[in-house]
Amino acid sequence: MSARTSLVAGNWKLNGTRASAVALAKDIAGGVEALGSEVLICPGFAHLGDVQAAIAGASVALGAQNCAAEASGAFTGEVAAPMVAEFGAQYVIVGHSERRALFGESSELVASKALAVQQANMQPIICVGETLEQRESGQLQSVLDEQLNAVIDKLGIAAIAHTVIAYEPVWAIGTGKSASSEQAQEVHSMIRKKLADLDESVAGNVRILYGGSVKPDNAEELFSQTDIDGGLIGGAALNAESFLAICQATD
Ligand code: PEP
Repeated sequence: MSARTSLVAGNWKLNGTRASAVALAKDIAGGVEALGSEVLICPGFAHLGDVQAAIAGASVALGAQNCAAEASGAFTGEVAAPMVAEFGAQYVIVGHSERRALFGESSELVASKALAVQQANMQPIICVGETLEQRESGQLQSVLDEQLNAVIDKLGIAAIAHTVIAYEPVWAIGTGKSASSEQAQEVHSMIRKKLADLDESVAGNVRILYGGSVKPDNAEELFSQTDIDGGLIGGAALNAESFLAICQATD
């Protein structure tokens, strides 16, 4: 038995108004009582303050979807990790595949962002995962190695204990086509083994989330796998009822 507490994180992406974000946050906050897992919501930057107020006193953590690698300076348009932390946020997602693919973020940059998040006393949720083409051409392990080695080199293996890793196969994100529980477990176990080769205690303690078309009807099977410690949820996190049903599936 591991001592890892499950985490279910909602990535709201570029969605919502101030009013709809507050309403969703309140609906989630009202439904999380008595859950054994940790629940996290990650609204857009502009909604962090309103959502922080909406979940005050509830067992819901707040996070951001991205941040700058730098803490301050002449970087017009960027949002720094210490700015996010000021809202009481505890987590920042880094290296989401949309950031890697659409905004050209390299694994090196993602690692710098993860470091910036830790330096602001929050935990990075480090996303890794392969495209369908990479999977089908046998590059799964090498893709994971490249993405994980960058953060291990930058943070040091001991600091990986204070991160969350999210395995998100790119082909499963927003497609409705989730990895099977066996496929997901296989990769989670590969990631944990890679970490165990460096530090068994870190590998045993770090939480590895699965992300990619998690829905209320497949969450329980995915979350019951030995090396899956919860989920990073996109589309289904925009509806309180389905998000709470997914949270319940960790129990
Ligand atoms: C995501 O964007 O991290 C994600 C997992 O999205 P979805 O649940 O919609 O596939």
